[in-house]
Amino acid sequence: MFPLNEDKRAELLSRGRRGEREKGDGKTRYEKRVNSKVATTVKEFNDIDMESLFKYSILTVNVPVVGETDNYLVRIKFGGFLDEIRNQLKRNNNKLELKIILKALTSSFDKEDVYIRCTCPDFQYRFSFWLSMSKVIAGAPENRPSKITNPKNTLGSGCKHLMLVLSNNKWVMKVASTIYNYILYMEKNRQKQYADIIYPAIYNKKYEKPVQLSFDDKDDISDKKIIDVANEIGKKRGQFQKGNPYRFQKKPTTPGKDQLSIEDEE
Ligand SMILES: [Zn+2]
Repeated sequence: MFPLNEDKRAELLSRGRRGEREKGDGKTRYEKRVNSKVATTVKEFNDIDMESLFKYSILTVNVPVVGETDNYLVRIKFGGFLDEIRNQLKRNNNKLELKIILKALTSSFDKEDVYIRCTCPDFQYRFSFWLSMSKVIAGAPENRPSKITNPKNTLGSGCKHLMLVLSNNKWVMKVASTIYNYILYMEKNRQKQYADIIYPAIYNKKYEKPVQLSFDDKDDISDKKIIDVANEIGKKRGQFQKGNPYRFQKKPTTPGKDQLSIEDEE
C-alpha cells in the first residue's frame, strides 16, 4: 500500500503519470502541470540551505511556482551533491565552473532519493499524509490521514506543481547559478567561512592559503541576504560579459576567470 522505494525522481514522475484522472476535466495532475510556471530568474532562487549543502551535501531549495490560482513554493531536497561535484572537478582539471555545478546537480537530482513538498492545498490535503508514510516528504510529516480526499492513494505522487518541478530541468540551471555566485562571493568576502567549510567541501582538502579575516565575520546576515547580494554581483558579471553594447568600444579589460555568464531569462 505504501509506495516504499519509489522515491527517485523518475519513479515519482512515473507514479504521477499513472495517477487517477480528475472528474472535472478528465486529466491527471501530471498532465495539468503545464498550466503552471516555474520561476525564471536567478534571484528568485534565493531560498537554498547553503549550510546543509556544504556541510551535509544535501540540497534543499524552495522553487517558486506560479500556479493557476496562486503562487506556491515547491520544496525539493536531495543528497549526493558534494560527491558529484568532486567527480566533475576531477574531469575538469580541478577548475570550478558553472557547468561543473550544473552537472553535479543534474546528476544527483536524477540518481538520489528526492524528498518533496508543496505549499498548495491539494498537496496538503491529498498527498502530504501518503508521502509522510512513505518518508518522501521534505520537512515535517503529516500524521492526519487523507481519509476522504485521497483514501486509497490513487492520485499519483504529488500535486501538479510538483509534477512540473520534477519534470523540468530549467530551474536546476538557476539553482546552479545561485550556488556558483554564492561560492565566488564567499571566496572573496567571507574567507574564513570559505576556508573552513566551502573549500574543503568542494575540493576535499584543506585550504592552504592564508585567510584574511574580514570584519563581517561576526555579523549575522541571513543566508538569504548573502545569496541576494551574490546573485546581484553575478548578474552584473553576466551583463558585463554578454549583451553589453559598450563592452567592445572600451579598451579591452582583462578577461575574467569566470567565463560563463549568469543571466536571467526575463
Ligand atoms: Zn502544489
